[in-house]
Amino acid sequence: MAQLAPMPAIGTWDDPARMIGVDDARDRVLAAFTPLPAIQTPLVDALGLVLAEVVEAGSDLPPFANSAMDGFAVRAADTLAARHDARVRLRVLGQAAAGYVTDVIVMPGSAVRIMTGAPIPRGADAVVRFEETDELDGLATVGGTIGIRRAVESGANIRLAGEDVRAGEIVLTAGTRLRSAHVGLLAALGRTTATVHRRPRVAILATGDEIVEPGERMCSGQIRNSNSATVAALVYRYGGEPIALGIARDTTDELRARLGAATTADLLITTGGVSTGDYDLVKDVLRAEGRIDLWQVRLKPGKPLAFGWIGATPLLGLPGNPVAAAVAFEQFARPAILKMLGRTDLTIPTVQARLADRIENRGGRRHFARVRVDATADGFVAHLSGLQGAGMLAGLAAADGLAVVPDDVPVAEVGAMLPVQMLNWDLG
Ligand code: AMP
Ligand code: MG
Repeated sequence: MAQLAPMPAIGTWDDPARMIGVDDARDRVLAAFTPLPAIQTPLVDALGLVLAEVVEAGSDLPPFANSAMDGFAVRAADTLAARHDARVRLRVLGQAAAGYVTDVIVMPGSAVRIMTGAPIPRGADAVVRFEETDELDGLATVGGTIGIRRAVESGANIRLAGEDVRAGEIVLTAGTRLRSAHVGLLAALGRTTATVHRRPRVAILATGDEIVEPGERMCSGQIRNSNSATVAALVYRYGGEPIALGIARDTTDELRARLGAATTADLLITTGGVSTGDYDLVKDVLRAEGRIDLWQVRLKPGKPLAFGWIGATPLLGLPGNPVAAAVAFEQFARPAILKMLGRTDLTIPTVQARLADRIENRGGRRHFARVRVDATADGFVAHLSGLQGAGMLAGLAAADGLAVVPDDVPVAEVGAMLPVQMLNWDLG
């Protein structure tokens, strides 16, 4: 991996040519991650995770022929002559409920009253729905006589054994991201667990002398730690397990101690302390304790992004500004988590939208503007969702997506078409 260029001299910090492009940085970050080992997990916890096994059906689905309707199990041949005005009379010999196997045999001229899901009794090859029968003697139960108003074909309203899934068939392949229907299919086959790539453990450390946890007493000059909550929510949402490391004061000793303690993490995420300020020490600690692979990426907001290693643990240093942290998380941490989960679809769902507001992009960086997206008859339309400062949480909270203005486009005018990364489209 390329070594970091020396710290730029004051005055060159804003030179986009010195920064790494977003795609290049993303490739370099992702090269550090591979799918995590497979584990067996209870089905309900497997939702959204990626299968690490091939699932072969151990039995037929349905397991036996059963009725698709409430009605009467009959011999189809008996019903051939049935008409609305010329009913065929059949004697009801017994009844069949779901969960029970009846030993009554349907002989010519007879029927068995049957409920949805009940095994088809021997002799019967069709089911006539209640709606197409009449009670002829006030008794449509055992011992009574019914009138069939319509002919049915052999097989009518019967669900055959194995018609859904055959025993031995491969129903799910390794690499499948488990959705609720997959979980249900596994349960139908009797499975209680699934073998999946385990969730990445992502340790989250906020940095800054001014940062105070919500719920704790604040002094003047201090602000709430919102980044840890945002990042933990994003980690959780994309399938990882967040580990809260709290807040490190801006000293190298405290940073080193807190980061060094997170040895079980698959990924360390810090926020703040990666810029050019006097107390931005995360990259110094990375340099001293491990390795720094990249710093400063050509994106807006989110430029002061760092990636490196503390021992064997990768560390993504997100910027401190809350919107910058969230935007950089989406571009770098999200695909890293997905890759560890065994996902191969790492891109954010993106639509093309027409701009309803002008977006300036003077800095020569890829600009991720926070937008609200409306679906209209003429396609998607994007409006700026609020103030665009790197610390403006309200604009981010109101956004549906991030409109992507290319590095070399200084102004995206009203009416321009831009790709918009949709932030809430993959809840899966
Ligand atoms: P820094 O990169 O550490 O200089 O932080 C940049 C800006 O983000 C400063 O205004 C910080 O106060 C703010 N900031 C840093 N960390 C957090 C955090 N955990 N929650 C909210 N704001 C933060
Ligand atoms: Mg700071």
